[in-house]
Amino acid sequence: MMAEQNGGVLVVGEVDNAGALRPISFEMIGAGRPLAESLGQGLAVLLMGSGIGEAARTLGAAGANRLLVVDDERLRDLTSEAATAVLTQVIQNLNPTVVLVPGTTAGRDYAPRVAARLGVGLAADCVGLAIEEEELVAVRPILGGRVQTVVRMPGSRPQMATVHPGSFEKAAGDGAAPEPEPVPVELNEAELRVRVRETVQGGGGSADLESADVVVGGGRGLKEAASFGVVEELAAALGGVVGATRAVTDAGWRPHHEQIGQTGRTVTPRLYIAVGVSGAVQHLVGIQGSDYIVAINRDPDAPIFKIASFGIVGDLFEIVPALTAELKAARG
Ligand SMILES: Cc1cc2nc3c(=O)[nH]c(=O)nc-3n(C[C@H](O)[C@H](O)[C@H](O)COP(=O)(O)OP(=O)(O)OC[C@H]3O[C@@H](n4cnc5c(N)ncnc54)[C@H](O)[C@@H]3O)c2cc1C
Repeated sequence: MMAEQNGGVLVVGEVDNAGALRPISFEMIGAGRPLAESLGQGLAVLLMGSGIGEAARTLGAAGANRLLVVDDERLRDLTSEAATAVLTQVIQNLNPTVVLVPGTTAGRDYAPRVAARLGVGLAADCVGLAIEEEELVAVRPILGGRVQTVVRMPGSRPQMATVHPGSFEKAAGDGAAPEPEPVPVELNEAELRVRVRETVQGGGGSADLESADVVVGGGRGLKEAASFGVVEELAAALGGVVGATRAVTDAGWRPHHEQIGQTGRTVTPRLYIAVGVSGAVQHLVGIQGSDYIVAINRDPDAPIFKIASFGIVGDLFEIVPALTAELKAARG
């Protein structure tokens, strides 16, 4: 059976509805490349959307052997129905051994639909992936992120998984891009019946949380909504955006869309500054993909210090304004 399956590894990239690549796309190549090497097979990248030629070339240059592009006006606001139809058709034509889909809001919705249509298993929200005896070995968190479990789907073809954002290295985008291969797909009325009439941006100014280079996350240590001024000022001094813990969003101090963690958003900035954040496991899963984590907390035993690259023990109301003033002075 294995000998018939030589379609390689297929990873799916993601663009926003303006056709710009989401950072998870590069993580998908980072996740898929080692699997393709272990299998001795190629790595194909699929990008679907509208007006995505430029994005596809950029993504292809990050280490894909094949670049499959479904560039179709009808996919501008990619709905789950349409994504399901496209990915199912691509898989049926390509016959890949492994398929990886971003574990984003969109991917989590359409990947299980594709798996169901194909009658195969799906390992969801994986934080680790490897190949053993030509089978996918997927590691995924359970019990609110406290424990990790290993999932195998023996005999299932393709072997499908969604990738937890922030869990894999982003592939660097400086190679030679393979020639884009436009893929014709058929979309029927039923698959296009959901139409996006309008996209309304949530308020709060943190729409870029997932792609920000710098995120300053505020926790319950801030004590009240009004104190978030110190977090906003530090974020502004660094050209970053504000995030929050669930304790904060539950209290209504910040809008829900700023919540980072297991039941919030996943961030992968170069720098994450945790201000008055204890470091609960449900928060850590949302920040673990950050390059550097700086923690400011008055409790030297706070769990956040275990994951932090740099820690400052002290009162945030003294430290954060001083840090902001230093940064402003250094930047003139
Ligand atoms: C199913 C489930 C899902 C969850 N999902 C999420 C999620 O997505 N995201 C999330 O964040 N949480 C989530 N939680 C909640 C999580 O378990 C924690 O309760 C929460 O992250 C704690 O938020 P915090 O760090 O702001 O508050 P706390 O744990 O109360 O920590 C506040 C910290 O501030 C410090 N501090 C206080 N005053 C000062 C000061 N003056 N100067 C410096 N430091 C100070 C304290 O030492 C303390 O460490 C979830 C929980 C469950 C059960």
